Amino acid sequence: MEKNSIFKYTIEDLENILSENGFNKFAAKQIYDWIYVKLENDFNNMTNLSKGLREFLIENYTAQPLKDLVVKESTDGTIKILFMLDDKRTIETVLMPQKYGQSVCVTTQVGCKMACKFCASGLIKTERNLETDEIVRQIFTMNKLLKDKYSYDPENPRARVSHIVVMGIGEPMDNFDNVMKFVNIVNDQKGFQIGARHITISTCGVVPKIKQFADLKTQVNLAISLHAPNNEVRNQMMPINRAFPIEKLIDSVKYYIEVTNRRITFEYILIDNVNDLPEHALELSKLIRGINGYVNLIPYNEVEENPYKQSTKIEQFFKILKKQGINAIVRKEFGADIDAACGQLRAKREGVIGNEI
Ligand code: SAH
Repeated sequence: MEKNSIFKYTIEDLENILSENGFNKFAAKQIYDWIYVKLENDFNNMTNLSKGLREFLIENYTAQPLKDLVVKESTDGTIKILFMLDDKRTIETVLMPQKYGQSVCVTTQVGCKMACKFCASGLIKTERNLETDEIVRQIFTMNKLLKDKYSYDPENPRARVSHIVVMGIGEPMDNFDNVMKFVNIVNDQKGFQIGARHITISTCGVVPKIKQFADLKTQVNLAISLHAPNNEVRNQMMPINRAFPIEKLIDSVKYYIEVTNRRITFEYILIDNVNDLPEHALELSKLIRGINGYVNLIPYNEVEENPYKQSTKIEQFFKILKKQGINAIVRKEFGADIDAACGQLRAKREGVIGNEI
């Protein structure tokens, strides 16, 4: 029988498993403490569990971190890891040290079917959803790395992942259930304790899922990859816009704000002569005026395989938004020298282990 990864269970799941198998369900908290607080991944070492329970766990479950194939560190401290999954597919995860703690950008799918024209992730041929445990293990493995680096000290904010952005490879709303379960697990007070307000999910605009997400009424932040002020421009850049045009997307954002009372983030990558003209800035201001949110302006990271270039008019665009009374910031890029910057993830070795990265 194939063993299940222990990382896919919420604490309630574990309690049920334990009860059903004749163990005391309170041991679930102890198991969570070993795994998520002590970062112990060998059931044999979980010394306060009964011998019978340890044997049961060893027989039926695995607690393996992800296998790291390549670890690259940027001059700015960003670390990108190429992980190999159990089926030999590869994914990328990025750790960004921040003033306020350690932020990790997680991947939710192998490849992505959204096919945004400007994005490198869509270039990955094979596609599948990541399982919940494969997303959780990205955080677990990063925590292990931090533990080694900063010699474990739970009081040291540097030694722990404190923030998560769901902005790696894949469209999280296309893997909704697994991503939400992942959020529940990393959020648990008995586990990693990553606060919902420290987690941000980014979507290209899968409208029905945005509504479903709103209805969950969590405190998790939502970011919308808007990137264009109208359907004409957005259709050229993002095929999803043909299924869910901009008006529908904005309606879903308004619904989200109404239901959750949370502020929204609009991401807007600036691409030379595509979406960065003064009239685009004015049109964008009009589109989102009155919405409780702000615009994150992102310098486009050029991708070899497509013709788009970084905008030369970022300051000008920013100033127009400001003048129009729109909240905006220009986002700082991390890890550009190791291909870890926003939108550059592409799991170069996907499916071809042994080739050059
Ligand atoms: N699928 C989700 C999350 C992954 S992409 C989404 O679309 O939001 C994370 C962000 O990086 C998105 O805003 C995406 O549009 C942006 N992005 C993609 N390629 C980029 C590039 N080459 N330069 C800068 N940002 C890019």
